[in-house]
Amino acid sequence: MLRADFPILSRTVYGKPLVYLDNAATTQKPRCVVEAITEQYYNTNANVHRGVHFLSQQATELHEAARECVRRFIHAERTSEIVFTRGTTESLNLLAESAGAAFLREGDEVVLSEMEHHSNIVPWQLLRERRGITIKVCPVTDEGLLNLEALERLLTPRTRLVSLCHVSNVLGTVNPIRRIAEMVHSHGALLCVDGAQSVPHRAIDVRELGCDFLAFSGHKAYGPTGIGVLYGREELLEKMPPYQGGGEMIARVTFAKTTYERLPYKFEAGTPDYVGSHALATALDYMERAGMDAIAAHERDLTRYATERLSAISGLHIYGTALDKEAVVSFNVEGVHPFDLGTLLDRLGIAIRTGHHCAQPLMARFGTEGMARASFALYNTREEINALADGIERVRKMF
Ligand code: PMP
Repeated sequence: MLRADFPILSRTVYGKPLVYLDNAATTQKPRCVVEAITEQYYNTNANVHRGVHFLSQQATELHEAARECVRRFIHAERTSEIVFTRGTTESLNLLAESAGAAFLREGDEVVLSEMEHHSNIVPWQLLRERRGITIKVCPVTDEGLLNLEALERLLTPRTRLVSLCHVSNVLGTVNPIRRIAEMVHSHGALLCVDGAQSVPHRAIDVRELGCDFLAFSGHKAYGPTGIGVLYGREELLEKMPPYQGGGEMIARVTFAKTTYERLPYKFEAGTPDYVGSHALATALDYMERAGMDAIAAHERDLTRYATERLSAISGLHIYGTALDKEAVVSFNVEGVHPFDLGTLLDRLGIAIRTGHHCAQPLMARFGTEGMARASFALYNTREEINALADGIERVRKMF
């Protein structure tokens, strides 16, 4: 029973069993991940890469083994293509800054979509301020799908890069990345995929997807906070300048001129989160042992079941009805503010998220200030969805 691997799931809140349905914000951690962190601090803690001593070498081996684990997990060709960052947000900022310097000139176009998280919008806006690029936005249909015809029309000879989420953190829509990659590449542009909401839920093969870059966060995939990944094709990363300067990322420093380390270290200034990388690898191994296809099937069953149960509640409207939809159900209940709904459900021990979900342009698209969102992980059950549906019914009757 996988739930037993997650100690926090057996706690109560307000005297009620915890029903944790806020997994798109962050997942809970299995015991093996927490133990990997304490074990390393107790037994193998030393700074990596620079030490000749035993502990430093052991810590370096764990850190580099973690890189290999990530490479295998997303099926990248080389470990030089795996850059450790603080998370999706830092990965996308790194990309905008560094790919911006290498590949984008004034007047060049970047295409985003209406369903992006703020972290895949604002870094490009910062780049627009610095470099005078143009941002174009692909619309979303009423069902919550990317409008692919509109996307094709947005691609011009000035388009250099398209950056889209794989799975929307609000609508749950799974975007057809492989098809989009072919479209984007046929126009000579690059494709970045925000994988924050896909990597934790389905088997990922960056070569099969055909993307040029992929960003994701460890903490949404049963790993620790503060560690994430930017995957990039080697030939592109080679052309990109460093993002930050400092130790680790240099080959030789003089006051006259500094040369940079080889990939991926060129992008990893300062002491890396080597404890986090090892714990992330432990989480990815855990997911592989559970089976990515089994996780995906279980979560799809929960998503379908939740959709069925919640749609039966009168006055409840679900946003996003894509056929290929993953682990997220966002909704509003007529006459109940999502914040009140979330607060009252919390009193029943049910944790959901309410608000704009860091996707204000998408809220505007659907004409609402906020939504309630239940999101699932491998340890959730149909019973928890029953508790959610019953809880919403109870709250609805109070208004
Ligand atoms: N993109 C998407 C689609 C997300 O769901 C999130 C997290 N909510 C992020 C980016 C940002 O992730 P992080 O805060 O871990 O950097």
